[in-house]
Amino acid sequence: MRIVSLVGNRPQFVKAAPLCAALRALGDEVLVHSGQHYDPELADLFFDELGIPSPDHALEVGPGTPVHQLAIMMERFEHVLRDERPDAVLVYGDTTTTLAGALTAAKNGIPLAHVEAGLRSFDRSMPEEQNRVVTDHLSDVLLCPTRQAVDNLAAEGITRGVHLVGDVMFDASRMFAPLAAARPGPAALGLEPGGYLLVTVHRAAATDTPAALDAMVDVLSSLGQPAVFPVHPRTRGKLQPGGRWEALEGVPGLVLAPPAGYLDFTNLLMNARAVVTDSGGVQKEAYFHGIPCITLRDTTEWVETVEGGFNALTGMDAARVGAALADLSMPAERPPYYGDGHAAEAIARAVVEELG
Ligand code: UDP
Repeated sequence: MRIVSLVGNRPQFVKAAPLCAALRALGDEVLVHSGQHYDPELADLFFDELGIPSPDHALEVGPGTPVHQLAIMMERFEHVLRDERPDAVLVYGDTTTTLAGALTAAKNGIPLAHVEAGLRSFDRSMPEEQNRVVTDHLSDVLLCPTRQAVDNLAAEGITRGVHLVGDVMFDASRMFAPLAAARPGPAALGLEPGGYLLVTVHRAAATDTPAALDAMVDVLSSLGQPAVFPVHPRTRGKLQPGGRWEALEGVPGLVLAPPAGYLDFTNLLMNARAVVTDSGGVQKEAYFHGIPCITLRDTTEWVETVEGGFNALTGMDAARVGAALADLSMPAERPPYYGDGHAAEAIARAVVEELG
């Protein structure tokens, strides 16, 4: 069986690390990189550190609006599909790359498998939610990380080809934890293990308007304790005009760092007092490592972490973040929401069974 997998963003590289190996054990995988994330610190570093095979094709989409990127990726991906003639296309998650892969496969009549199917934040203003809904409705094999995801699909009338496989990010987290633990960690940044917050912010809702950027600066200025913020290049670019970057540089105890590689980031996470983030993946990774999470959004697709008392939704609101920081207690037991750490094998088996 010949599968063309399409990746293009930082979280997709993390998911591809365990899944490429599992797919290649059962079939023939052709890896395509869209180029949506092209900064070396968001892309090349991940291929090197995580041992992901070199892409067979690079679409090199480069910067642009999501619509521009979608159009370019679809056109270039169609050429790849015509050359490679795969039995299936596999896409990950909820980005513009995901949507481009899904639409191009569907328009060319090629069966589609979606990793991380069925997640919903029920906020259609999020580009990620739009991408998820369309991709799921075009998919032939829907690989769900959680029971909630299966239920979400059923509520939209999708029951065929649905598999509960667990979360491939949990596989990655288990696979790389020993290597991550051996990294220099917080001491290299002058931080005490267990004595700092790890911050990430990159979503459009937090960075695309002056009011949203001001709210972010307000939140990050009022954390009142040591914190490290590995800044996504997109976020840094948005903060730089208007003195906001300088304002953050002046916040006592806040370390502004370049985006970290996966291993360094995981080490910082494992040693953090708590995580403060608007990321999807980082909410789950905090749970995997038993670190309290404060999510700077009003909705999440990882609802079980909130319902279980491991994650607090605060929006980008300094008072609500402060209240959450004042109570970081969590249940001692962590239920196995995300499977047993063997999602990659389950995904490869399901794809071969359904489409092979
Ligand atoms: N990550 C990383 N370095 C960083 C920030 C995040 O390696 O400086 C990793 C993180 O461990 C997770 C993934 O990137 O595996 C999450 O990606 P991101 O937050 O960009 O996307 P989302 O999950 O929100 O789609």
